Amino acid sequence: MVARVRTRAKAKAESSGGTDADFGELIHGLPALVWTAGPDGRIDFLNQHWVEYTGLSADAGIGTGWEATIHPDDRPSLLGRLSASIGAGTACDAQARVRRFDGAFRWFQFRASPRVSRSGKIVKWFGITTDIDDLKRSGDAAAQSEQDLVDRIPASITVASATGEHIYTSSWGVTRPIAPPSVLRGLGFMSQLHSDEQDWVNAEWLRCVRTGETMELEHRLQRADGTYRWLHVRVAPYRDDSGAIVRWYGLISDIDDQRKAEEALRRSEQGFRLLVEMIPALVARWTPDGQLDYVNRRLLDYFSAPSLEAGLSASTDSFRRQRLRIASVHPEDWDSWLRKRIRSLETGEPLESTHRVRRADGTYRWFHERVEPMRDESGKISGWYAVGIDIHDGRVLEDALRAARHRLDVATQMAAIAELSASIAHEVNQPLTSVITNATMGLEMLDAVPPNVKGARETARRTVRDGTRAADVLLRLRALFMKEKDTGTELVDLNDAARDVVALSRGELQRTGAIVQTLFSYDLSLVRGDRVQFQQVILNLVRNAAQAMEGVHDRPRRLTITTERQDDNFVYLSVQDAGTGIAPQSIEKIFEAFYTTKNSGMGIGLSVSRSIIEKHGGRLWAEANQGPGSTFLIALPAGPKASDAG
Ligand code: ADP
Repeated sequence: MVARVRTRAKAKAESSGGTDADFGELIHGLPALVWTAGPDGRIDFLNQHWVEYTGLSADAGIGTGWEATIHPDDRPSLLGRLSASIGAGTACDAQARVRRFDGAFRWFQFRASPRVSRSGKIVKWFGITTDIDDLKRSGDAAAQSEQDLVDRIPASITVASATGEHIYTSSWGVTRPIAPPSVLRGLGFMSQLHSDEQDWVNAEWLRCVRTGETMELEHRLQRADGTYRWLHVRVAPYRDDSGAIVRWYGLISDIDDQRKAEEALRRSEQGFRLLVEMIPALVARWTPDGQLDYVNRRLLDYFSAPSLEAGLSASTDSFRRQRLRIASVHPEDWDSWLRKRIRSLETGEPLESTHRVRRADGTYRWFHERVEPMRDESGKISGWYAVGIDIHDGRVLEDALRAARHRLDVATQMAAIAELSASIAHEVNQPLTSVITNATMGLEMLDAVPPNVKGARETARRTVRDGTRAADVLLRLRALFMKEKDTGTELVDLNDAARDVVALSRGELQRTGAIVQTLFSYDLSLVRGDRVQFQQVILNLVRNAAQAMEGVHDRPRRLTITTERQDDNFVYLSVQDAGTGIAPQSIEKIFEAFYTTKNSGMGIGLSVSRSIIEKHGGRLWAEANQGPGSTFLIALPAGPKASDAG
């Protein structure tokens, strides 16, 4: 501009044929402060207007003296700008307040351009300083009124210039004021952004300023107390009639609480997911119609399916779609498992099942599954949740323990029998030895010549005595075994006797997995006999039934004890099982002493039981069931009714 003034002045001087004096007049008369400086920036000329305006002499202002007229607050930045221009050799444009002769400060625009010699060296600086105070004040007032307006908007607003320079940020509505808006670039609070988001937000902002697009983003901002809060920022350009961007306005909302709540929810969801993935169980979920829609990683690993989708077949059949699970159920357990599953889906009842499934390594393992429906408020099933646990090792161990316990029982029995036989042998041996000795002596006496008949008679008499003694020993032992008392007159309630047996053997029944059901006839007649012996018989039948079901896995191990009185004046007690059953050709053989099909069986239980029942005038026999298993029945002559017996 200075150059232009000068050029014009020079041209005027030249065209009007003017002199240097005219030129000087022009310079001094210009309504602006005009000055020149050497290449080093030291002022070497100040026009008359400067002298008049500042009230200083030109001499006082030469060199660096003029600096005293600059407002102390503006001096450093002005000098900085000037020396930067001098250093770079480029034009300078700056603003600063200048002191008038009366001490008042007014805003001035400083502009300076270098004059460059042909060789490219700066030979002079030409400067002009114009009064912009009125302009600036009205601009500031406009900015102030904009600020007032912004402050009144019930939201936190940020204002930036068309070129993206931050102007002002109000803090309305932001929970606790954010740190005072700095004079930094862009949105005015870049330096307060979380370091993770600084570059990204800055780049976004610069992009928007470049393209004029609306920006919407979420980031953290540091508050005065040093903590960070999440903000949602939406910045849009405001354009004038010509479509040029005049301002950028940004709306800032504090979304920290909301973000934290969402985060907490996400974390709790993650926590639950982690829990479901980590628990040492297989977890699955079905839709109400039985479509598998979630399985945990453990389940996929267990069945070696890479993903849920891979585990499902493409078929639409709801059961076939679950090939993942169905394919792995043991063929022997499949029917009962599927029946339970269908029933559960149809009735909405929980399902509990113990069956074998094929693991990824191809081995079948015992597996316990529990499926529960989840219902919504209206009671409608919204999904099925299943938990499966591999119980194989425990079960195998349990089986081994049971076998060991049984072997121990048998060994104990054997030991008791061995001991018993020793004492029987001892008891019986003595009289037998005497019998043999006496008989031998008797023979010798009869063989003698002449035969000693008297002596022989005596030995025969002793033989009879010892023989009787031996028979007595056996009778006593028999009485001991059979607990044969001359009761037979005791009135026994078979319901009570059976109830006691079930209670006594509960532990054993649980071990074998038998489910005991009792169907006792109300008002049953009593029977006459030995209660303990009846209980021995019932116990033996119950034990046999439980043992016969040990190998059963495809149906409930149901054991039913029924009592009833029939018109034939007999009281009946039956023990029904769902076990292996008895071959028709063996149905009588099993009552023979020492008949057994068990590795460690003795084969005397049923024969003793039958003799006990027959001794009481009753019968004991076995029948094959309609379905699997067999039923053992006891019939005993009915005595008086319990109610009559008093
Ligand atoms: P043990 O139990 O020692 O074998 P028992 O005389 O009690 O002796 O039984 C004889 C045989 O009868 C058994 O080995 C078994 O083969 C058969 N048996 C008994 N009860 C049942 C039953 N409930 N189901 C199938 N078989 C049975």
